[in-house]
Amino acid sequence: MSVTLERIETAPFGAATHLVCRACGAHAKLGADYSCWECFGPLEVAYEFGTVTREQIQSGPFSLWRYAPLLPVPANIAESRNLAPGMTRLHRADNLAKALGITGTLWVKDDSGNPTHSFKDRVVAVAQSAGIQLGFNTLACASTGNLAHAVAAAAARAGQKSVVLVPSNLEQHKIQATAAYNGHVIGIEGNYDDVNRLCGELIGEEVSSNWGFVNVNLRPYYAEGSKTVGYEIAEQLGWRLPDQVVIPVASGALLTKVDKGWREFVQLGLVEDRPWRVFGAQATGCNPVSTAWSQGNDVVRPVKPDTIAKSLAIGNPADGPYALDAVRRTNGAVGDVTDAEVIEGIRLLAECEGIFGETSGGVTVAVTRKLLAEGLLDPTAETVIVNTGEGLKTLDAVATGNGFSATISPNVESVAKVIEGA
Ligand SMILES: *Cc1c(COP(=O)(O)O)cnc(C)c1O
Ligand SMILES: [Zn+2]
Repeated sequence: MSVTLERIETAPFGAATHLVCRACGAHAKLGADYSCWECFGPLEVAYEFGTVTREQIQSGPFSLWRYAPLLPVPANIAESRNLAPGMTRLHRADNLAKALGITGTLWVKDDSGNPTHSFKDRVVAVAQSAGIQLGFNTLACASTGNLAHAVAAAAARAGQKSVVLVPSNLEQHKIQATAAYNGHVIGIEGNYDDVNRLCGELIGEEVSSNWGFVNVNLRPYYAEGSKTVGYEIAEQLGWRLPDQVVIPVASGALLTKVDKGWREFVQLGLVEDRPWRVFGAQATGCNPVSTAWSQGNDVVRPVKPDTIAKSLAIGNPADGPYALDAVRRTNGAVGDVTDAEVIEGIRLLAECEGIFGETSGGVTVAVTRKLLAEGLLDPTAETVIVNTGEGLKTLDAVATGNGFSATISPNVESVAKVIEGA
């Protein structure tokens, strides 16, 4: 299959005007650049927003493209060949609130409802658009699994080629699911940080000259996709912001951008200004941001990941310092939990709310419980926790035996025996 993807001549990046260095403030033009030519700091998309109203957003498509005026994408992006993720449900979690001792309202922003069952479809959608505008014909990434799945699917939908590079020790299910889209799925003998370094080296090489790496040379655009989680929470709460939010942290982009999205909503007058608190969640087996937070460091020291929460296993998080900034500025905290607690978290969410979350969801629920016990989260406040992926992606983490509570002959007495515990 081959499709010609149209590049948009006017305003290919919407209201985005340039890239800006988050470290030194230097400007760069909109392109496939991700680090500052002056200080090597990370580049971020800058905008000149016009007026954006609630009505305008509400009359948009039922997907993240309703926020197109706030993203680096063409205005007519919704009509193009992409998976249009987003507008996942905001689930009111009264049972889980009770189990956790939360007396305020608790919500689960359930991003397992995206096309490839994780929040990564959002960031890929925005990066893919940028890649097309910049003339790349292949969509690529370094991934801990979910991003690979999202890239392979998005490329298939657009008729693009895909090349995803992942650590070879990834969960089998994630690799098999990604392979279904018939792109290149390349296992690398090393951890995610090795994969990421390799992708950096591939930029500018002949073999990969036509590849847009969503989280490397397209990273400024990619990261903007995460803002839509924050936008949706605000819109779904009836155009207002919650008291506190708990977000799983891998590279730290999602956490950083939810906070950025809310600041933009305030700045545009779409929601009333109010204080909110941002909390981060990590696994103890990969807790560089949590460690920096508890030790009061500005520098995030890299770690070697060893946890079942593989989707969060980034030992050297690119946005770690910015996530720390957002947490400190909003009077939040970052916590981490053991793999045993992660599994308890997955089970608690499933048992209380009928939501089967990925290991990352288990991390978030378990860290929420821990931060409540430590008095860092306010149990009386309105709280949103983000479930970023679907439990079927990490089935092995919670699999026990063959899963049956019993295997019996097909008769009533046998059922009664099991139920009544004879
Ligand atoms: C990538 C990912 C995250 C964290 O994203 P960052 O922006 O890298 O911090 C959280 N949950 C899941 C399921 C993911 O795949
Ligand atoms: Zn700079």
